[in-house]
Amino acid sequence: MRPFTLANIIFVLCLLGIDVLYLSGAVDWWWLLIPVVIYIHLLVFGAIYIQWNFYVKSYNKGVQSKQVALTFDDGPAQYTSVILDVLKKEGVQAAFFSIGKNAVANPEMVKRWHADGHLIGNHSYDHGFNFDWKTSKAMQEEINKTNNAIMQIAGVTPKLFRPPYGVTNPNLAKAITRSGMYSIGWNVRSFDTTAKNKADLESRILKRLKGGDIVLLHDSQQITAEILTDLIRKAREKGFTFVRVDKLLDLKPYA
Ligand SMILES: [Zn+2]
Repeated sequence: MRPFTLANIIFVLCLLGIDVLYLSGAVDWWWLLIPVVIYIHLLVFGAIYIQWNFYVKSYNKGVQSKQVALTFDDGPAQYTSVILDVLKKEGVQAAFFSIGKNAVANPEMVKRWHADGHLIGNHSYDHGFNFDWKTSKAMQEEINKTNNAIMQIAGVTPKLFRPPYGVTNPNLAKAITRSGMYSIGWNVRSFDTTAKNKADLESRILKRLKGGDIVLLHDSQQITAEILTDLIRKAREKGFTFVRVDKLLDLKPYA
């Protein structure tokens, strides 16, 4: 049972229990506010923290010690090509969770992802700010549209999906299940989209590596491209090896 279902059941039971106590004069009416406030907080935090697996099961970490998977979101983007050069030079295979419209705008980069042995994942078609307010049908359409675009360009249909902004909700849970995708989260968030200092970004990631890690990065960020060589080399010095996220999680990458 998903935590969301369990939370719903407990919430209703609490309301009923407090109703009974209120009607018997044992408590004041405002006691009802307590489960309401807790419930609303659970719904919000469950949406924000993909690692809670609140609405949908996401894969956020592998079990293999000393293995690390690099994942890049939002491309093809401005720094994809530089990042691919670094990965090739260092002999690292990674995963790229592609925004469908960016794939269509830059098919050569999608082909290169595949040719270089990287995994191509699905990261919605538009990645709009309104994505999480869409119906489950509209979300499913975005997922399918991206899968079809990648199929036409690279000849593979992704099975791995990363929710835009890492936000999940009941509609997205339904869309992911119905489209037969795996939801992929992370356990090491780099915050590279807001990072200003290269050394800070690099040490933040390196400090958090414990083995079996899924690192969230973005190929839209210059700073990410700039620290990548150093990051890979320093992680290797610490004894880590790099694997593709589908290998780390032992999941089928394509349909
Ligand atoms: Zn994104």
